[in-house]
Amino acid sequence: MSSEEITKPKNFIRHIIDADIKSNKHNGVVATRFPPEPNGYLHIGHAKSICLNFGIAQDYNGTCNLRFDDTNPAKEDTEYVEAIKTDVKWLGFDWQDRLYFSSSYFEKLYGYAVELINAGKAYVCDLNAEQTREYRGSLTRPGKNSPNRDRSIEENIELFQKMRAGEFDNGACTLRAKIDMASGNINLRDPAIYRIRKGLSHHQTGDSWAIYPMYDFTHCISDAIEGITHSLCTLEFEDHRPLYDWYLDNISIGCHPQQIEFSRLNLEYTITSKRKLTELVTNGYVEGWDDPRMPTLAGLRRRGFTPASIRDFCDRIGVTKVDNTIEMGVLENAIREDLNENAPRRMAVLDPVKVILENYDADKVEELQAPNHPQQEEMGKRTIYFSKELYIDRADFKEEANRKYKRLVLGAEVRLRNAYVIKAEKVVKNEQGDIIELHCSYDPQTLGKNPEGRKVKGVIHWVSASHALKAEVRLYDRLFSHPTPDTAGEGTSYTDFINPESFKRLETAYVEASLSDAKAGDSFQFEREGYFCRDLGSNTGKNPVFNRTVTLRDTWAKIEQKI
Ligand code: ATP
Ligand code: MG
Repeated sequence: MSSEEITKPKNFIRHIIDADIKSNKHNGVVATRFPPEPNGYLHIGHAKSICLNFGIAQDYNGTCNLRFDDTNPAKEDTEYVEAIKTDVKWLGFDWQDRLYFSSSYFEKLYGYAVELINAGKAYVCDLNAEQTREYRGSLTRPGKNSPNRDRSIEENIELFQKMRAGEFDNGACTLRAKIDMASGNINLRDPAIYRIRKGLSHHQTGDSWAIYPMYDFTHCISDAIEGITHSLCTLEFEDHRPLYDWYLDNISIGCHPQQIEFSRLNLEYTITSKRKLTELVTNGYVEGWDDPRMPTLAGLRRRGFTPASIRDFCDRIGVTKVDNTIEMGVLENAIREDLNENAPRRMAVLDPVKVILENYDADKVEELQAPNHPQQEEMGKRTIYFSKELYIDRADFKEEANRKYKRLVLGAEVRLRNAYVIKAEKVVKNEQGDIIELHCSYDPQTLGKNPEGRKVKGVIHWVSASHALKAEVRLYDRLFSHPTPDTAGEGTSYTDFINPESFKRLETAYVEASLSDAKAGDSFQFEREGYFCRDLGSNTGKNPVFNRTVTLRDTWAKIEQKI
């Protein structure tokens, strides 16, 4: 990406950075990080954070680290580590040699915890989880000091070593910061620094640790170790900021990044909670993390979203401190605009009915040239085949219709896109009364031009029956039927709102022959039908699989103006 392309409109974070650069706060350096926990796949909300962190680094000539915040071996896995790396790269960002794991700081973190103990600022507490909760108090009630709060430094050091050595059971004790049990901010009421988690193997450190540091302790120190200047996180961490600062102020680390919070992305008709997305996958509501209905980057990629469209979406929604929910249409428009400009046009008949041209020679095949894009001549042309037997879409024919129906009607004419005008002469039905064939005539004088004195308004798409490829077409729609499925109302679950129409498989679609060259992931506009991409899954054979990315904004008004 060139630097002009990535210069973004100013948001409040960029204003803060501008001011910091002006005052030389971090010697003019800008260092950010994107810190996912590898306990699931990245989703569209993460894309906002990635674009923000990497985008700022690019625009301010700074750096952005990819750091795995991996302090909970119970939920993490290398599958997620690899998927996250793939997704960040796909989105168009590069951490270069700055790939880090919080777990590689475990020894340092342990050392800082010992420092806190030696300074009389941390202690080993024997309260169990329930007692700890009770002692913590509430928003209206101050907490109570732990009976172990005044243990001697020597005793604390010894106990902490024993915790590390695996001499205690899970839950037997914790290391806590000694801050203030009466603080109005519950995060400061002697929060846990370390807990015992024996018997779990960590994906990076194996079995070498029996204790694991808590997120709040780990995060600020990891930021400081890496020399992060601006630690951007979502609003739920606002109340944790005093703790972020307390840890850094009370250990001997020479760097104090500034935490700045912004609002999470919420998107209508989907969910962005990793826990719930995991449930959708593990309980089989979707076919996997890359199911094209999922808001994961893997799902969006398989659906046919381009990295550019997602970056563009992230620019459009902006970065603020106000919680809100973005309309799905904003994301859909971003991909439509990209594909409208860049996707080659093709013809595909999703619900075929056969057309037989009675006055066309049975042995004849014409090779016609069709533009790949109506505006972009440089996208060239491809060959389409015209012959006696064609397919058109069932919805494009009616025996009788009023004047608003501008497609094929018995006894009337319609234009076949990129080809001739035809007229429906006769309908052939089976015993059940379903139409199985349409017998038509074609007008040889009408290739690329309207017949003299006759106006043919309707234009429909078609494919040659003997040349078309049989294809499977998967129609995807919004995964949920409710705009905010996870907060839809008392007593409801987001799974109550899974849209039963969100996936429809069409097994007998026909697509034009040129699509045999389409590579997995290639996107097309199927004229009058929408934007589709060739599936990334196993479909290298003769019968391609196409996924619908998004419908056309406007199927009719536009097509009628062109021939
Ligand atoms: P968890 O509940 O597992 O912590 P998380 O959604 O916070 O899930 P992380 O892996 O911790 O996921 O997130 C990595 C980064 O992405 C964090 O800085 C987080 O603030 C940011 N992030 C996560 N979800 C969103 C979202 N919906 N909008 C914007 N940023 C997000
Ligand atoms: Mg998180």
